[in-house]
Amino acid sequence: MIVVLENARCIYTCDTPGLIEGGYVIIDGARIREIGHGDAPHIEGADKIDCTGCIVLPGFINVHHHFFQSVTRAVPGLHRADSAAWLSAHYPLWAEIEPDDLTAAVRNSSAELLLSGATTSADHSFVLGGVGAELAPIEIAAVREMGLRLHLARSCLPVIEGAVGAHLQRTMGERINRLIAPEDEVIEQCRADVERWHDASPGAMVRLALGPSNVAYTKPALMKQFGDIAAETGCGLHAHYHPREAERALCRQTQGCEPIEFLDRAGWLGPQTWLAHCTELDDTEIATFGARGVGVAHCPRTVLRLGYQIPRIAAMRAAGVRVSFGVDGAASNDGGSFINELRLGLLLHRARERNPVSEDVWLTPHDALLMATRDAAAMLGRDDIGRLKPGLCADITVFDLSGAEFGGALNDPLGGFLMAGVGARANTTIINGRVVVRNGQITTANELKIAEATSRASAALAERAKAAAIG
Ligand SMILES: [Zn+2]
Repeated sequence: MIVVLENARCIYTCDTPGLIEGGYVIIDGARIREIGHGDAPHIEGADKIDCTGCIVLPGFINVHHHFFQSVTRAVPGLHRADSAAWLSAHYPLWAEIEPDDLTAAVRNSSAELLLSGATTSADHSFVLGGVGAELAPIEIAAVREMGLRLHLARSCLPVIEGAVGAHLQRTMGERINRLIAPEDEVIEQCRADVERWHDASPGAMVRLALGPSNVAYTKPALMKQFGDIAAETGCGLHAHYHPREAERALCRQTQGCEPIEFLDRAGWLGPQTWLAHCTELDDTEIATFGARGVGVAHCPRTVLRLGYQIPRIAAMRAAGVRVSFGVDGAASNDGGSFINELRLGLLLHRARERNPVSEDVWLTPHDALLMATRDAAAMLGRDDIGRLKPGLCADITVFDLSGAEFGGALNDPLGGFLMAGVGARANTTIINGRVVVRNGQITTANELKIAEATSRASAALAERAKAAAIG
């Protein structure tokens, strides 16, 4: 099948040449065949998509999410909870998630990503635990059906450390074991899942990464085993990492070293690793991440929602650290819109890092676009996505710039799109040559039914958790 995107106002390739004003893209099967200026050549029988007034971009690559959380968003009573209170209240809900809830949540978060221009997503799925034999196929099937390209960070909760863990032991009793996965089972299941699902071939729709939810300071052997499997198989490594003062203290106390050394001993300091948040990196960590190729997933809205420190994005980039954007799970973002995350990420770091007149410290719209596309692809170890170039995967998103929100903002169309835009719905999204959003509507599923099913699952989950609560 040939698909032609024609009459585009502008095409940003994230490659060379960077910008084509007035042009077309021809897609042949799963790959881009041609990109050009002016009118598209006539191709008999092609599926022609009119992009008049539109900006055409490489599909965005979301490097951090928790799809399962779409059944626990904007939870009543937690709208202003800090991260400890938020976690303490969410774990009992997540412990009740059943396979059908996961399907609903995965479909819903995939729908939001497709509609907001994302074509590839990492999903850090720490409810899979040691029973991933049942849940991982459910997640992968739902993502495939929606058409999204997936990097499944097949995760687990080997332990819940610190004050939150102690609180949950008291409040959840035995039910905490629905969340925590014994180390042996996790490793066995991870090996089996990598063997079964990780596709290293070019154009792959599913790849795997491994890692616990949080860097597990009291589980050095487990961390090392994840590192070993990644080194053997080429899959990625992913976890949450800040590290906050309490985590530094725990690491010193139990392992006699700093967190960065702990990661190094476990074989985690390499380009196969990307870590979420990194809100409290010190200068040594920033320099080391830059030198060793470790990536950072910056999730701006979660920073605001949970009151984290704003990470030092400019300092990281100056040190050569790879930084890209993640929407994070819907329990800490509430929304799952990639384009809105990108717009916020362009601005948020400015509240922490001064921009002296003589220095270009703050991100430009083009910096942010590259972080969300080309750089994110490199972070996930891919050179077949993240740019618009003949021969690469046809992962493309198209947004309409003709509305009032863009009036007066289009002398620099990309700047206008990211700085003036408020609308978050792509006109067209194409993944691996498949049109998954057309005229602002998902083609692979019924959006309203997905939302309804997710709301139903969310309400039932809250009831089950209430019934299971102790006391
Ligand atoms: Zn997260």
